Amino acid sequence: MPVTPPPTPSNPTRAVWKVAIGGLPLPRLFDYRPIEGDDGAVPGCRVRVPFGSRERIGVIAAVGPADDDGADLKPALERLDATPLLAGELWDSLRWLAHYTHEPFGEVVATALPTLLRHGEPLPHTDRLGWRLSAAGVDALPRLRPGRPRRLAERLAQGEVAEDELDSLFDDWRAALRSLDGRGLVEQVVMTPATAPAQPGPEPNDEQRAAIDALLASRDAFGAFLLDGITGSGKTEVYLHAIADCLARGKQALVLVPEIGLTPQTLARFRARLGVPVYALHSGLSDGERARTWAACLRGQARVVVGTRSAVFLPLPDAGLIVVDEEHDGSYKQLDGIRYHARDFAIYRASQLNVPIVLGSATPSMESLRNARTQRYTHLHLRKRAGVAKPPAVRVIDIRKRALDAGLSNELIDALSRTLEAGGQALVFKNRRGYAPVLLCHDCGWSAECPRCDASMTVHAKGRRLQCHHCGASKRSPDACPDCGGLALQPQGAGTEKLEETLAARFPQVPVVRIDKGTTRNRDALVGHIEALGQGPGLLVGTQMLAKGHDLPGLTLVAVVGIDEGLFSADFRAPEKLAQLLVQVSGRAGRADRPGEVLLQTHHPEHPLLHTLLTGGYAQFADEELALREEVQFPPFAHMAMFRAEARDMDVANAFLVQVRAHLEATSPGAVLTTHGPLPAPMPRRAGYQRAQLVVSSNARPALHAALDAALPSIRELPEARRVRWSLDVDPVDL
Ligand code: ADP
Ligand code: ZN
Ligand code: ZN
Repeated sequence: MPVTPPPTPSNPTRAVWKVAIGGLPLPRLFDYRPIEGDDGAVPGCRVRVPFGSRERIGVIAAVGPADDDGADLKPALERLDATPLLAGELWDSLRWLAHYTHEPFGEVVATALPTLLRHGEPLPHTDRLGWRLSAAGVDALPRLRPGRPRRLAERLAQGEVAEDELDSLFDDWRAALRSLDGRGLVEQVVMTPATAPAQPGPEPNDEQRAAIDALLASRDAFGAFLLDGITGSGKTEVYLHAIADCLARGKQALVLVPEIGLTPQTLARFRARLGVPVYALHSGLSDGERARTWAACLRGQARVVVGTRSAVFLPLPDAGLIVVDEEHDGSYKQLDGIRYHARDFAIYRASQLNVPIVLGSATPSMESLRNARTQRYTHLHLRKRAGVAKPPAVRVIDIRKRALDAGLSNELIDALSRTLEAGGQALVFKNRRGYAPVLLCHDCGWSAECPRCDASMTVHAKGRRLQCHHCGASKRSPDACPDCGGLALQPQGAGTEKLEETLAARFPQVPVVRIDKGTTRNRDALVGHIEALGQGPGLLVGTQMLAKGHDLPGLTLVAVVGIDEGLFSADFRAPEKLAQLLVQVSGRAGRADRPGEVLLQTHHPEHPLLHTLLTGGYAQFADEELALREEVQFPPFAHMAMFRAEARDMDVANAFLVQVRAHLEATSPGAVLTTHGPLPAPMPRRAGYQRAQLVVSSNARPALHAALDAALPSIRELPEARRVRWSLDVDPVDL
């Protein structure tokens, strides 16, 4: 609907369009002269506007009087939406989020919209798309080389398949499809909506029944529920019952899952049990698919969506329920751009939508546990594993003074042998990818450091390459020591690559599958690797990518190695993260008929964290951790915000933060505010930049926000601000 404005003289008394534009660091709206004769414009509609020498797409945030006399305002070029794209609760919630994160509204809107809509594309159709072989594809099929494209083509030869079904049938089908499409062997078709009847699930046990009843009893209003249940206790069953009830009442349900948790298995389970199309939103989708899912939500066509972090921005005109699975998971916090926490924003949205929200976890965050204790959340417990599964037995292996092979003790290797002989599968968990964390010269003590970071380079490819895990720098390993010319360069310690090599040499008769960022770029690749493990005896080696997600029914032994560094980290959240990781990864051992076993290998068997976890479990750890946090007034007993600054020169970064601190103190005299810093970041130099940080905290959230509101306008104007890259992170998760 392009409407070209005629060149009429401007009328200063007329209302202007106040437009939010993304990609600009300026926390303000931009005034434009409305398109002549266009009286239908309302907030939430996208517009194309001139900006500097270019054009941009923005969203009308308000229609009102101009900031100045409005005499020389540029006219907007085109209104892109007949009715607002962003409206109602979502619009209001985004405004709240901009305020809460102290970020420009235009930037928040740009984060909330799928890429294509942000770039001004029309709202897409929401037909259910599928694929079939073209005539050329039918001809070519017998000649295709074995591989994924051929497997996909064989399936399509049996009949057309919807994209959402492909999601639960194949790993990485998109790449295979692109390959076929590029050769003209497939064609897209519009499918009819899937209408498989819902399959019944297991009869809920008493605890599940109590949790379901509690949710259904308050289904008509906002309420937050913490569903606290060990892995395998049947939390997902509880969600499914609540979602089914939500669907029966004609409402929409949104389920947030961590990045790694959205497996084809999960989707297939939801689809089978609910009997309606289940939309998925995750990083593997194309821009077109993301925009279609967004539009399907807006039109109320999508009744159930399972998605990762950014799904929290989906429009939910008929919302009935929000679920946040693994609510403690770190992937819910966005670490750059708009630094929102999807769980927290989901809670806000649920309150505005007036619907219940369920936060599920085997290892709830300290924030949620505290909210449960202060009765802001209803605490629901699932204490038993569902069905007949028993919790795993946990044993600590003290490796002080023991001989180790690639960091593995004999005791651990024996346990692996026994498991494999019994036909089981074992997971060796180590949170360090690569071959070895350090390359050391045995003659002179030189070690390979990243030239741009305060960090060692990690050895990869059996010692042939060096890679920095902080800035991505990568180079060939030197043949000789750059300092002394000696040839005694030795990788020190063991990462997952080295473990894989060692285990493959020791157990040549079974598959050894490694899962870390090096082998597994996305969730589809993960599924492929796990399939390669098969059903029989085998070993998995991996990082925290394996702590959750894909079901591993054959896994009876979990061996955790190399946790010792985590026991002594400076970050006050490190114990919480480590405890969660240990409990989560242990929870993978044993299911149904096979009891599991967990081995923790450590130099610090008496460490209080391990002791508490072993004797009292996560609940006792959480009790002690909360008591400690209260004593020192750390979150969740205080609220924090962090200013980060980076510059080539540490003095420049510090100078800015010193000013920030002064402005906070000057604009909020007497406020109950504690500032801490500026201090160097935990790793001061990264990618060639020196980084410093200033932590601001307060016991009262409103006081913290008021102080930030008061000081930020002058902070943004500081001459020092132009000499650094800086950001503000409200509720930071890594200090
Ligand atoms: P969680 O989400 O807490 O890890 P799930 O809901 O995935 O747990 O349940 C774990 C396993 O136990 C699944 O295979 C599920 O089908 C099964 N299960 C759940 N609830 C019951 C029940 N009441 N009776 C029998 N099996 C159950
Ligand atoms: Zn040397
Ligand atoms: Zn680096």
